[in-house]
Amino acid sequence: MEEVRCWEPEYECMDREDLEQLQLERLQSTLTRVYRNVPFYRKKFDELGINPEDVTSLSDLRNLPFTTKDDLRENYPYGLFAVPLREVVRIHASSGTTGMSTVVGYTKNDIKTWSNLVARILTAGGVTKDDVVQIAFGYGLFTGGFGLHYGAERIGASVIPISSGNTRRQIKIMQDFKTTALVCTPSYALLIADTIHEMGVNVNSLSLKYGLFGAEPWSEGMRKEIEEKLKIIATDNYGLSEVMGPGVAGECLERNGLHINEDHFLVEVVDPETLEPVEPGEVGELVITTLTKEAFPVIRFRTRDLTRLITEPCACGRTSVRMSRVMGRTDDMLIIKGVNVFPSQIEAVLFEIEGTEPHYQIVIDRKGALDEVTVYVEVSESIFFDQMKKQREMIEYIKKRLAAELGISVDVKLVEKKTLERFEGKAKRVIDRRKL
Ligand SMILES: [Zn+2]
Repeated sequence: MEEVRCWEPEYECMDREDLEQLQLERLQSTLTRVYRNVPFYRKKFDELGINPEDVTSLSDLRNLPFTTKDDLRENYPYGLFAVPLREVVRIHASSGTTGMSTVVGYTKNDIKTWSNLVARILTAGGVTKDDVVQIAFGYGLFTGGFGLHYGAERIGASVIPISSGNTRRQIKIMQDFKTTALVCTPSYALLIADTIHEMGVNVNSLSLKYGLFGAEPWSEGMRKEIEEKLKIIATDNYGLSEVMGPGVAGECLERNGLHINEDHFLVEVVDPETLEPVEPGEVGELVITTLTKEAFPVIRFRTRDLTRLITEPCACGRTSVRMSRVMGRTDDMLIIKGVNVFPSQIEAVLFEIEGTEPHYQIVIDRKGALDEVTVYVEVSESIFFDQMKKQREMIEYIKKRLAAELGISVDVKLVEKKTLERFEGKAKRVIDRRKL
């Protein structure tokens, strides 16, 4: 077994009772601050007749109001900041795909905390000060690049802030600078792996050991594919700009769920429809309350991410609760023929089928009143150029597997390798023409 390394063992391996006491103290102080400094929260608390002093146990959290992405948009840009702007040293924003973006701020202390929490995640994923970390996340308003950058520097690793894109150059740098850890989205890691192969670079000649991937949901099959192609240990990490950015949770080398930094984030899992807590271990929407953030605290923020909590102890020795890999977002959920379908379910099936490439696209159309789904799947050359009979068999097999998984029938089309678009950041795998 790997030697257990923690960045802050005094917190990461904390006794449960002590942790809960710390969480409660931090929650009370956060509530007092938002009530005093953020009119939005004061109004909401007053409407519900809640005084921060009434919160005397962690279970009282259930009485507090939720915060949604819409609340953030309506308070654009600085309405939810809990400190004056002169105390803010950094501003990030999430991309506004559907209109206004959401803006978040950090004090000096927030940046320090953030770096520390990302350092925990990097350490859990195998990174030490001896590593050369190539950060192929976009730098800019997106929190991914800067978040990982500061954490890796905090550890004392050698950081290459290459940002995303220019894949061949990424690989040249990887060779020349002897990169040992790669940080990016899983779909970009896959594109890098395929480009390494195309360029005829022997992956064994690289120094890569670890890959730390996040910012989009991915499947276990995709992890295996990346690990085999890049000859690395790949871990998953989780964060979102509204809550802090990367550093909320990350996997240890056991690769069996993401340890949540619970001394800084109080998590709940609720039914996205009723907003009631799900049974322990059940899948639902992750809700996060920040416990230490100064500039931009959030109370019961609805992440829209679907996951479940794992409370069984982890072999690594960390005592924190883990979350399973994100299974999808409530807004990614497709309702097809009245059935709830997540793109990640389709991905998981495709990764299990021999001969398919890890690239696919889901196109949804409406013919009359009926939804029609076509899954385009890249297949290996041998299958694509094989006899029609074999292709038909493959299509039938994929259709059968998908129907069993999804509970609805979908159409499947095989396409030649490299037909579908590749992504340097977050992948876009669904084209829903019904909305047009
Ligand atoms: Zn662990």
